[in-house]
Amino acid sequence: MNEDTVKKRVAVVTGAGRGIGRAIAESLARDGAHVICVSKSESSCGAAAESIREQGGHADALAVDVSSGEQIRNACEALLEKHECVDILVNNAGITRDNLLFRMEAEDWESVITTNLTSCFHWIKALGRPMTRKRWGRIVNVASVVGLTGNAGQANYSAAKAGMIGLTKSLAREFSARSVTVNAIAPGFIDTDMTSELDERVKEGALGAIPLKRFGKVEDIAEMAAFLCSDKASYVTGQVFTVDGGMVM
Ligand code: NAP
Repeated sequence: MNEDTVKKRVAVVTGAGRGIGRAIAESLARDGAHVICVSKSESSCGAAAESIREQGGHADALAVDVSSGEQIRNACEALLEKHECVDILVNNAGITRDNLLFRMEAEDWESVITTNLTSCFHWIKALGRPMTRKRWGRIVNVASVVGLTGNAGQANYSAAKAGMIGLTKSLAREFSARSVTVNAIAPGFIDTDMTSELDERVKEGALGAIPLKRFGKVEDIAEMAAFLCSDKASYVTGQVFTVDGGMVM
């Protein structure tokens, strides 16, 4: 990635404390962006921001529980007082509460929809307007291949991820006249804390379904995100990019 690609941009990455979000934050920072690392716990986003600064990049930490619209609105208000505009928004924070539908509690449905999908609405509503005024912006929503295919035991998660894809396509149309692009990435199985919790049999089954015969690395997703956030991707909007070792073709 060219170092000039996202220079001098301000970027918000949610779920940047660990896993995919942290790799995206590091990648954008390497490309020159000032990255606001958002996560639920102060220690996790704090460590991510510190590590970026230690490597010579620019980063701040911001602890926000994205399941709260009020916390998101307050955070965005504070951000827009400090920075005239947030140019790049990566909605990556997400959780799973897996179960077969008849065993799924309503609160597991709601917490996954609220954290994974409704949060995107709040972030984009608060940060999208200054982007449209500036006539430059990049929004990347980290969905999942199960938002395209569905998955038994993940009705809540798949619905949230499919919702992110619908949101992405609708807003790509709404914001296109102002040169703000909106795209989604649909990762397959990526090696992170989220997938380390999975049963070994589930992992073996998943591996068998991946043509490239390995789980993805967080960097595989970060590279795609960095491209979509760069000037090089100015003619790309409303798309869903599967990064999954060939699982969904
Ligand atoms: P992860 O390792 O579990 O990390 C999740 C990150 O999200 C953490 O930084 C966590 O904050 C943050 N987060 C969770 N709930 C939050 C909340 N309520 N408020 C603020 N931050 C919150 O997850 P990952 O595997 O990197 O996944 C990242 C994204 O990719 C998710 O949206 C996930 O659905 C998607 N995805 C992952 C895979 C995969 O195979 N790993 C596949 C497809 C899609 P703390 O650090 O403070 O806990």
